[in-house]
Amino acid sequence: MAKYPFKSEVNQLLHLIIHSLYSHKEIFLRELMSNASDALDKLKYLTLTNDEFKQIDFKPQIDIMFDEKDQKTLTIADTGIGMNQEELADNLGTIANSGTKNFLNLMTGDVKKDSNLIGQFGVGFYSVYMVADKVEVVSRKAGEEKAYKWTSDGKGEYEIEDAKRDRNGTTITLYLNEEGKDFTSRWSIESVVKKYSNHIAYPIFLHFSETKTDDKGKKQKSEMKVEQINTASALWKRSKDDLKEEDYNEFYKTISHDTDDPLTYVHTHAEGALEYTTLFYIPKKAPPDMFRVDYKSGVKLYVKRVFITDDDKELLPAYLRFVRGIIDSEDLPLNVSRELLQKNRILANIKSASVKKILSEIGKLSLDKEKYKEFYGEFRKPLKEGLYEDFTNRDTLLDLIRFKSTKSEDITSLSEYKQRMKPDQKFIYYLTGENVETLKNSPLIEVYRKEDIEVLLMDDEVDELVIPMVIKYKDIEFKSVNRSDAASDLKSSRDNKVDEKEIKPLIEKIKEKLKEEVKDVKISYRLSDSPSCVVADETDPSIQLQHIMKAMGQKDLPQIKPILEINPEHEIIKKLGAVSDDVLFEDISKLLFEQAILIEGVELKNPTQFTKRLNKILARAL
Ligand code: ADP
Repeated sequence: MAKYPFKSEVNQLLHLIIHSLYSHKEIFLRELMSNASDALDKLKYLTLTNDEFKQIDFKPQIDIMFDEKDQKTLTIADTGIGMNQEELADNLGTIANSGTKNFLNLMTGDVKKDSNLIGQFGVGFYSVYMVADKVEVVSRKAGEEKAYKWTSDGKGEYEIEDAKRDRNGTTITLYLNEEGKDFTSRWSIESVVKKYSNHIAYPIFLHFSETKTDDKGKKQKSEMKVEQINTASALWKRSKDDLKEEDYNEFYKTISHDTDDPLTYVHTHAEGALEYTTLFYIPKKAPPDMFRVDYKSGVKLYVKRVFITDDDKELLPAYLRFVRGIIDSEDLPLNVSRELLQKNRILANIKSASVKKILSEIGKLSLDKEKYKEFYGEFRKPLKEGLYEDFTNRDTLLDLIRFKSTKSEDITSLSEYKQRMKPDQKFIYYLTGENVETLKNSPLIEVYRKEDIEVLLMDDEVDELVIPMVIKYKDIEFKSVNRSDAASDLKSSRDNKVDEKEIKPLIEKIKEKLKEEVKDVKISYRLSDSPSCVVADETDPSIQLQHIMKAMGQKDLPQIKPILEINPEHEIIKKLGAVSDDVLFEDISKLLFEQAILIEGVELKNPTQFTKRLNKILARAL
């Protein structure tokens, strides 16, 4: 017998599981069922595609036994692929996959410590330590003779020793603790299995003893019984008419490791040139790894009901990575290689049809405003990524995107915006920035307000990158109002009565004082209440975008200076022309610039100087 230490991350994880996970304890059973089912999937695939495994007598099944009397144990056995000595050590102790770290990071934050998340991070096995003091795993790998036993109390180390097992597969025995004692009754086990694992494609048998009573109510000898407790069919292959919403929801829980019902689903049996079945779900909440590069794919690929992979991120485009579900093709060869999957035409066709289906389902969802708000709050960011990732479906996506706006309390669609456009309005105006409150108060939109023109307020970082690439919605161009020429097409610009020649010397003088800070100083017709604002030159990135790029760690960006616009009708500007004190003139010029930066929600480079200047002016005014 040899003892090994757990890898330190696994140790931390176990510590966390033992000491701070209390909710949803029953999910350990879901995780074990799911692992057993994966092990059966793997062996099934080999028996169908690999000569070495063809002679194996493969009877896929999962058995659950329990002892409610002496030891309080729960045992789960499968006839799957099994693990050899090395795999036992790697999978259950040594290799901490990326999920372990991610899960630990999340759990040490402020979030509610919810064990439900554990399976979504791919570290489900360890959840057994919520209900057990000691766990034994006896396993024999298919095609190998020897079996091994892994044992651990989850505290620091595990043991591996030789063992006996009649055939390939894995048997896991849990020595239940106080919390786990409930799982030694036929009904509690059956109800949890039905809830989370009813639609696992292999039969799950529960072994229990039944004590018969005779006519006089006297107890007779008890008898062992075995009963299949799940439906064990490939649910997605069944006709839609035979399935109830409940069935769909249950199945979703089996494949997603989520305890909640999905928001919606779409089930398709395609026949014709290609024959395939797809079943896609949209969860209510974003999967916890949605914004991680190493996110796990949520779609499983089957060929004629045989599981092929759940680890192919190409099955759906990345922007739909929150979708969960199944693709089952009748036309792909069983032994399709993973590398070739990427280039496979059949799969490419299924993929593009699937994307259309999912988007059209989201479209249907959008008809119900309340439900759509729920969806949109969770998934708007990936959906917007689709605008640059998926050119083919851009128009459909544009109809699914919503924005905040100066004219709507709620989020609004582009088609609604279009309907509200003024008869002579040529553009869809928008302003990007960090939050709606800043945007609503930006001097940049004063003129649009005055002319009763709607401006979309975009406060997701991704907007700033995506909208300039999209260019148009139904032939109407987008126009960012934080550009130097943006307001030139507005009535206020055309009607201006300012004598530009007269104001020129003032502009030159301000420009001289701000030559380090700005590219140019211009007269503005878009301002009414504010004295100044900053904008980006027509083809330059906006100040917000530069800010984002810096925050994302792009260091050597050339500094691109903004343009300062001043309001010739404003009292300060009118009076500034008459200021002869050079220092005062410079202070005011700088303050005009700095307040314009602040109001855009961007940090000042030198707040101390700003405060000094401001105080000087305040002292003077008193
Ligand atoms: P995940 O299943 O998400 O990979 P787990 O922590 O549940 O994470 O399991 C770790 C690994 O242990 C699995 O990936 C699998 O390789 C192996 N494993 C677990 N249970 C079994 C089983 N019943 N049969 C064969 N291998 C198993």
